[in-house]
Amino acid sequence: MPATPSSQRGVVLVADDDPVMRLLMLEMLAQVGLDAIEAEDGRQAVQLARERRPDLILMDVEMPHMDGFAACRAIRQEEAGAALVPIVMVTGGDDVEAVTSAYEAGATDFVSKPINWPILGHRVLYVLRASDAIARLRIADAQNRAVLAAIPDTFFRMDRDGFYLDYEPGHERPGHERPGQARALLDAPGNGRLSLERAPRPARSQDNAPFSSERCIGRHISEVLPPPIAARVLDKLGEVLRTQEIRSVEYELIRFGTAQHFEARLVATGPSEVLGLVRDISERKRTEEQIRRLAYCDSLTGIPNRQAFLENLERELQRSKIGNKKFAVLFMDLDAFKRINDTLGHNVGDHLLKIVSERLRETIRPSDLVSRGEALPGDEPAGRDDADASPSSSLSSSNLARLGGDEFTILIPDLERVEHALNVAHRVKEAMRRPFLIEGHEIFVTASIGISLFPEDGDDCNSLLKYADTAMYHAKNCGKNNAKLYSSSLTMQIMSHVKLEVGLRRALQNDELYLLYQPQLDVRSSEIVGVEALVRWRHPERGVISPTEFIPLAEETGLIVPIGEWVLRTACNQARAWQGQNRRALRMAVNLSAKQFKDENLSQIVLSALDETGLDPKLLELELTEGTLMDDAKATLSTLERLRAIGVYLSIDDFGTGYSSMNYLKRFDVRALKIDRSFICGLPQDSENAAITRAIIAMAHGLKMAVVAEGVETDEQLVLLEEYGCDMVQGYFLGRPSSAEAISQMLGKLRLVLPVR
Ligand code: C2E
Ligand code: MG
Ligand code: MG
Repeated sequence: MPATPSSQRGVVLVADDDPVMRLLMLEMLAQVGLDAIEAEDGRQAVQLARERRPDLILMDVEMPHMDGFAACRAIRQEEAGAALVPIVMVTGGDDVEAVTSAYEAGATDFVSKPINWPILGHRVLYVLRASDAIARLRIADAQNRAVLAAIPDTFFRMDRDGFYLDYEPGHERPGHERPGQARALLDAPGNGRLSLERAPRPARSQDNAPFSSERCIGRHISEVLPPPIAARVLDKLGEVLRTQEIRSVEYELIRFGTAQHFEARLVATGPSEVLGLVRDISERKRTEEQIRRLAYCDSLTGIPNRQAFLENLERELQRSKIGNKKFAVLFMDLDAFKRINDTLGHNVGDHLLKIVSERLRETIRPSDLVSRGEALPGDEPAGRDDADASPSSSLSSSNLARLGGDEFTILIPDLERVEHALNVAHRVKEAMRRPFLIEGHEIFVTASIGISLFPEDGDDCNSLLKYADTAMYHAKNCGKNNAKLYSSSLTMQIMSHVKLEVGLRRALQNDELYLLYQPQLDVRSSEIVGVEALVRWRHPERGVISPTEFIPLAEETGLIVPIGEWVLRTACNQARAWQGQNRRALRMAVNLSAKQFKDENLSQIVLSALDETGLDPKLLELELTEGTLMDDAKATLSTLERLRAIGVYLSIDDFGTGYSSMNYLKRFDVRALKIDRSFICGLPQDSENAAITRAIIAMAHGLKMAVVAEGVETDEQLVLLEEYGCDMVQGYFLGRPSSAEAISQMLGKLRLVLPVR
């Protein structure tokens, strides 16, 4: 029933068979600003009510054809709009029976005769206003029902003492809370910030009965919900009534064997009553959990990631500062992981990382590694009885993490002695040494580990992690498969290392590199048959730097490739020049480092150096080490194939220090072995080395390889080597590495006069 708009005058239907009465009524209604239409009997009244839709009907009881009661009933049978019109019956005298009948017929109000005419208009206005209010209420009620029907939430009304006044289960998941299985409550106050509070966990029981109006209405909340949750809701309810603001409570219930999360939003609907809307937020919780997982979990290995580790480290730092405790950070990096990735593919590499993380997990599991709280970053620490929390919640508190690539970290809390950290490092190293079987490959890896200590090495997370990393690099430099503790001198070393690297990058452009040449003498003919090119760096501040210092650095940074190319070209150029001057063949030996050997352009570089200088390939000797050859036999063979096709002479440098077998070397078609200086320097007194030297010479000859002895410093050594049948010698006794000019002079004298023959 529409309300009478203020701009429009209301219309009243006056139904009375007495024309005088109608006239008087019309007059009174006009005085209060109402229009009127007239009906002479009940039938006409029903018809007009249907057609004209008046805002109110004044209906006489006694009328011909159809009396007022019948007309009233008929109108109430009409379709929705017309049926709701307020009807005021005009009854006779003190006719109580008529009044009762009027209400039974559906009348809204009545006036009795004799009519108090001055009041009538106002009475009608009053009824109009009241029915307008009722109409509004009816609309609001319909709207509320529509809204409640549209949302899946359960809703309830509750009084201030916690008794359900009303309960309507949500249509998607009927029911909400149930007693017996509360675990944790998350409160979301009006500001939307979540604060974690934990309720004591009641014993688990199964109660899967649905929540219903019958189960709730008239009951106290503590009979319906587990007491800890009921207490929290009541607490919030008090707050809502006090502040008249919206509050919400989150809680978890185990229903039908699975955890369900709910959020109850509480709104005050008066000074002592609250409306609650309960929503199942399990899906949202799962999504949040997934997001947390993504943020804190390494997707490849499933262990905590860098972010989780850093937050865990920060917590440990605060804890240790307060408790005056020590802890260690272990930084582990696999040795040569890149090679595995490059040679066996990323699938194998990924698989390896997974197994590595599993082994690490096993390694740090023993009880001497204290594992603590299970809470996620930002959570308050959970009690011990929460140990069976969901698997994801153990993520970031675990002391193991993968920072990225093949880098793993382990946090060792409550460290009593440094040895303990070293012990763990040792166990980790051992765990890595067992072969890994992946896709049919048996893979051997080692690990380098760096350790930093709190508070000794630093008192912030970044420094501790950085220092552990620094120590790890030191471990690698010390031959890998090593664990090293950080020390402040390492930082100094690294700084000077970095400075040297910057300088080395400029050395080539600034012409700071130069070559010296060391003669090689044929023992039988006493002739210089070759020279070895040895590079030097004239550093602008430090003076001449030895290749033993800067070649490893050049290897590490890749600078060895351009440097090596320069050496090769310069040496070939020099060899060609000597060839022109002396008209005799002089072999130029050039050292090749492993990185250069692996460079796929190597044969191209060698070819173009020979082409540009016009040097005969036979006069170029490339010195390789055993390690270089053994690294990757398949690739080695094809590189050697290409070099052989060019026609260069290949020799093995520092022989005896590596792990190659002679037979293996033969496959590579190596022409000469250079016995390492360490075997020669003790001669002739060191009988063991003498025996080794002799054996190497014999075996090499058996395989038709020539032998060069390096580091010959005395005439006794020379005599002995000659006796053993050594083919060539090189060393200070015959000449130190010297400039090209000095060598030129030496070459001038065709035959060297040896002091002792
Ligand atoms: P290497 O190839 O084994 O070179 C021999 C080293 O022994 C040279 O050291 C040489 O000066 C030294 N030596 C020669 N005779 C004697 C002796 O009688 N007694 C003693 N005590 N030492 C002797 P250097 O020039 O310092 O070179 C060291 C290493 O640096 C070389 O060992 C080689 O592995 C590397 N190297 C030098 N130049 C180059 C280069 O141009 N490229 C590459 N990749 N490596 C180079
Ligand atoms: Mg050499
Ligand atoms: Mg050598």
